[in-house]
Amino acid sequence: MTIFQRIIDREISADVVFEDELSLAFRDISPQAPVHIVIIPKRAIPSLAESVDTDEQLLGHLLVVARKVAGQLQLNDGYRTVINCGRDGGQTVNHIHVHLLGGRQLVWPPG
Ligand code: 5GP
Repeated sequence: MTIFQRIIDREISADVVFEDELSLAFRDISPQAPVHIVIIPKRAIPSLAESVDTDEQLLGHLLVVARKVAGQLQLNDGYRTVINCGRDGGQTVNHIHVHLLGGRQLVWPPG
């Protein structure tokens, strides 16, 4: 079981900023920007690489939630969404998630 499943199950606490029937969004414990939110589906998919075609609606939903949370947190000057995938992508938690980063000018490329 991943740490994110334990957050969904409320076994460990998180600073939740948005929740609906399909997803949960909470503040990252180690923020890389003034605003750093992690958006996860409640149904566990380990990674983008392990998703399947029929996950299309759920994957799209995560981006819709990202837009809503960005509006809610007033990221009016822009923001970045990131999905790390696998070892080379820097993924450390094997429950797919979208990072939402904002509140400062972000650099590119990300490294
Ligand atoms: P990844 O590196 O897999 O793309 O992102 C995982 C993210 O989850 C990291 O940014 C990390 O700081 C965050 N994270 C790991 N454990 C916890 C936790 O227990 N609570 C919260 N809120 N974030 C966590």
